Amino acid sequence: MRGLHNRAICRHGSRVNSAHSGSIRFFRVAGIQVFVHWSWFVVAWIEISTRLNVYSSPVWNVAEYLGLFGIVLLHEFGHILACRQVGGQADEIVLWPLGGIALGRPPPRPGAELWTIAAGPLVNVVLFPLLMLATMACESAGWSARVPDLGRFLFMLWSINKWLLIFNLLPIYPLDGGQILRSLLWFGLGRGRSLKIAAGIGLVGIVALTAWRLQQAPDDWIWTVVLAFFLGQQCVAGWRHAAALRAAE
Ligand SMILES: [Zn+2]
Repeated sequence: MRGLHNRAICRHGSRVNSAHSGSIRFFRVAGIQVFVHWSWFVVAWIEISTRLNVYSSPVWNVAEYLGLFGIVLLHEFGHILACRQVGGQADEIVLWPLGGIALGRPPPRPGAELWTIAAGPLVNVVLFPLLMLATMACESAGWSARVPDLGRFLFMLWSINKWLLIFNLLPIYPLDGGQILRSLLWFGLGRGRSLKIAAGIGLVGIVALTAWRLQQAPDDWIWTVVLAFFLGQQCVAGWRHAAALRAAE
């Protein structure tokens, strides 16, 4: 199970040109353009080729990796559609090796922000029983016995979705959980202070998460460091933005 579970953090933000430089247009649906960053293909190739012993044919490895990003994509669509529902602007999703980026700008109200963020993990909540039922149906119909790879594949999708949900709900800014915490604090503490507190908790959380992952999965240290760097960078940007907001307040 090495690897895949920490590949799907999602990030939100207003339109950032750098987010899709180096990306190719993948498809467009309901006015939402999905991009795939070139590095996604490189990492997909590495991930798939290092997990070849899991299934009897590499076709299943490819299907599993595509399944992971299918789940990530649905999660990002959750953010985008919720953002539009509350009157925000959102029309781009970028897939990259660490997960997905939903580019959107909800109106600056805590309720609008809260719904935009919460809708992503809610997609995983809905997928949880559906994937469990699919795994169980496959088992009881005897398909898992006839095609063991199919049973394993469905179980892996269920497991990946579960870990995506748990990981993204950690109250560590900029993960969804940290942003939900920030939106909740915003109701009572205002825009700047809530972001400052969430980013502060996020920095402590990133250090703890990194130490824990280095101990739990020492072989996966490269990804742990990449993840820590990415989250830390976003968190510091959040902290600075909070300082600017407080100065403006
Ligand atoms: Zn998300």
